Amino acid sequence: MSDISVAEAHAAIRAAVEGLPRARERVALGELGGRVLAEPLLATFPQPRFDNSAMDGYAVRAADVAAATRERPVKLEVVGVAAAGSPHEGRLAAGQAAQVMTGGVLPDGADAVVMVESTSGYTDAAVEIYQAVDVGAHIRRRGEEIVEGEELLAAGQLLGPVEVGTLATFGCAEAEVTRRPRVAIFATGDELVEPGQALAPGQIYNSNFHVLRQLCSHAGAQVVIERVLRDDVDELARFLSDAVTRCDVLVSSGGVSMGRFDHVRDVASDIGLERRFWKVAQKPGRPLLFASSDETLFFGLPGNPVSSTICFVEYVRPALLALAGAPPPKKIHARLAAPFPRQASKHRFLFGEIHADEQGQLLAAPTRKLGSHMLTSGVGANALLEAPAGDGPLEPGATILVTPLR
Ligand code: AMP
Ligand code: MG
Repeated sequence: MSDISVAEAHAAIRAAVEGLPRARERVALGELGGRVLAEPLLATFPQPRFDNSAMDGYAVRAADVAAATRERPVKLEVVGVAAAGSPHEGRLAAGQAAQVMTGGVLPDGADAVVMVESTSGYTDAAVEIYQAVDVGAHIRRRGEEIVEGEELLAAGQLLGPVEVGTLATFGCAEAEVTRRPRVAIFATGDELVEPGQALAPGQIYNSNFHVLRQLCSHAGAQVVIERVLRDDVDELARFLSDAVTRCDVLVSSGGVSMGRFDHVRDVASDIGLERRFWKVAQKPGRPLLFASSDETLFFGLPGNPVSSTICFVEYVRPALLALAGAPPPKKIHARLAAPFPRQASKHRFLFGEIHADEQGQLLAAPTRKLGSHMLTSGVGANALLEAPAGDGPLEPGATILVTPLR
C-alpha cells in the first residue's frame, strides 16, 4: 500500500466518523460546561418576563414630573416599595410615586422611573423629584430581549459559561446534549515505565499516554480506559477485544511501524477493525494507522512523542469534536517570521509559536528542534504549522497554515 495524502487521510476519517452512531444524554446544569447541545433551546417565556426598573429610584407617571427641575422640584406622595422580588400591589394614581429597585416590577400606572440620584432620596411619606423623564425612561420592557418561542441556542452549540447561564436564565435544570465520545487510550512498548518508577537500562518513561490523556479531555472526549501494554500479541488482543465493546474511539501509541515487535496493525485487523489507511505522506507521523468498524474508530499513532502528539491534533481531535457534535477546529493563515523546512515529498508539520505583531498581523515561527523524538520541541508551542511538500524551505514572509493549539 503506498502512502496516501493528508487530504485523503482526512477524507477517510470523515467518512468513518459520519457512519458512526451518535448518542445523546440529559445532563444537569452544573455539568454542562464544554458540552454540545443536541437540540435547539426555545424560550418558554419572554425575557424580561415583566416590565421592570433598570435603576434604583422612583416609579412615576412621566406627566406628573414633566415640569420638575432641581430649582422647582415636583412633590409626589410615596405609596409603596417595589423591591426586586416583591412587587408593589396597587396602582399609582396621579401625584403618586413608588420606590423601586433595579429589577423590581414596574407598578401599574407608572410609565417611567426617576433615578434616586434625581430625587430627595428614599423618604417614606413624600419625595421631591428634581428631573423630568420621558415615558419609558429606565424601564426594561417585557420581551425586549427575547420573545416567547424564540430560539435561544441552536443544536450544535458548544456550551460555555454564557450559554450555560442562558439555560439557567430560562429555568432549565438540565439539557439534552451529545454524548461525549468514549475513548480508550493505550501506550504500547516493552521499554515503557511509568513516571515515579526506577528505570532499568534501555527503558524510558511513558510520556505519550499522558499527552494523549490531556489532548482527549481538551477535545471533549471521555477517557474510559487507560492502559500501558507490552509488545505482546495476546495482551494486545485481549485489551482491544474488550475496548471495542466499551468505546467509540481507540487511540494507541507505538507499535505501528516496521519493527519486529510492532503488532498493533495485525491485532487490530484480527479483531475486526478494517484498515482504512496505513502510512500518510507526512512528516512526522508517516506510519499513522486508521481502522474502523461500524461502531468504532481506531487510531494507531506512531510511538515517537512528537508524531503521536501531532497526529492526534491533526486527525484525532477533529474526529472527537465531530463525534461530540462540536464545530471542527479552525485552521488559519499566518506570515512566517522564520524559515519553515519543507520536505520534498511529504507534508511537513511542526510545532510553532504564533503571535500578532503591532499591526495586528499574525506571525508564526516553527520550533527549531525538528526531531520527531524531541517532545520538548513542543514546550510552550501554541500552534501546529504545516506546509505541503515542496523544494527548499518556505522563507520568512511566506504564508503558512496554522492550527491553534489552545
Ligand atoms: P514505536 O512506534 O513503537 O516504534 O516507537 C517509536 C519510538 O517512540 C521509540 O523510540 C519508542 O521508545 C518511543 N515511544 C513509544 N511509545 C512511547 C511512549 N508511550 N512514550 C514515550 N516514548 C515512546
Ligand atoms: Mg514500540
